[in-house]
Amino acid sequence: MNQGLKLLFVSTPVGLLGSGACGGVELTILNFAKVLRQRGHNVTIVAPEHSRLESFSLVEIPGTLQRSAQTLNRDDPVIMPDNAVLVNFWNYVQNVADQYDLILNFAYDWLPLFLTPFFNGKLIHLISIGSFTDVMDRVVQDVMQRCPGSIGFHTHSQAETFGFKAGYVCLKNGFDLSQYQFCATPQNQLAWMGRIAPERGLEDAVYASLTTGIPLKIMGIIQDELYWQQIIQNYSEAPIQYLGFLSTNQLQEHLRQCRGLLMTHRWMEAFGNVAIEALACGVPVISYRRGGPTEMIREGITGWLVEPDNINELVRAIQKLDQIDRSVCRQQAETEYSLAALGDRIEQWFAQVLSL
Ligand code: UDP
Repeated sequence: MNQGLKLLFVSTPVGLLGSGACGGVELTILNFAKVLRQRGHNVTIVAPEHSRLESFSLVEIPGTLQRSAQTLNRDDPVIMPDNAVLVNFWNYVQNVADQYDLILNFAYDWLPLFLTPFFNGKLIHLISIGSFTDVMDRVVQDVMQRCPGSIGFHTHSQAETFGFKAGYVCLKNGFDLSQYQFCATPQNQLAWMGRIAPERGLEDAVYASLTTGIPLKIMGIIQDELYWQQIIQNYSEAPIQYLGFLSTNQLQEHLRQCRGLLMTHRWMEAFGNVAIEALACGVPVISYRRGGPTEMIREGITGWLVEPDNINELVRAIQKLDQIDRSVCRQQAETEYSLAALGDRIEQWFAQVLSL
């Protein structure tokens, strides 16, 4: 794609960029913006007021944040708070839409999906989590039918949760690999990273650390304080260390010195950025066989997939970590998940959308 496009990104309305509260989508937005800017496109990002995104200036929009989908039940209706930042985003977008070639929505919310046909082929979406509520499934399915090509997913497993086998774009993800340093000789410790909330199943990783006696470094924002306190109480003897919510640079400094990353999610992880961040440092990944990680981890080569919620299998996989060649982990990240690889996938998608 040789012509520079004018692109408008619309962030998630569930939290501030830079806070950690939005999970993987924060780094995803940054990586999309970075690679598209490198390729000569002009990126403007709309985000909730007081958001921060490394080296990008933002259009900050005030308003009340949206509830995260993880807190909803399957039959819950769409909930819109008064003076919603989501509504304010789309009032802004409507006023400036003429100035852009494409508008890319990163929010997993009903309103922007519903608005797709009103933007005459300019509005496209990256769906960042799996199926969660019936009302969202219906609008995603409607948009797939009425506006073909306008929806991108991270993985096939994620698309399948909405009932799709074809007709969507699979973008995976991509990372600035220069930010992650390879480490060939780790210390005897494990890592766990991400939002600390029940759907991430941290307690299983803590159990594994207690059982194997291998220290576990925990990195990420505590989203559910009660859940965290319960883990500390129930596993007071476990050799765990909580390091807080770290910047990417601090995170990789700790992560790369670990023998493995544990992914013990209870929900259908759409992608799982942390898996690729680990591989980029040469750290093998042990994950429950659930969602995105099943498409990334090469069994016995860059990690192990274990039966979901089976903590004995998790412990057995930890004992096999030394069989993995850490340089192959880094190689996999470079081949499939570099910014360049992501940029090619995104530009292919844009080219398809613009020629429809
Ligand atoms: N993360 C971070 N600092 C930390 C721990 C995690 O910046 O201390 C980031 C990490 O880089 C990743 C995100 O948190 O991008 C977690 O995203 P993931 O896709 O793994 O999970 P999600 O929370 O979206 O389910």
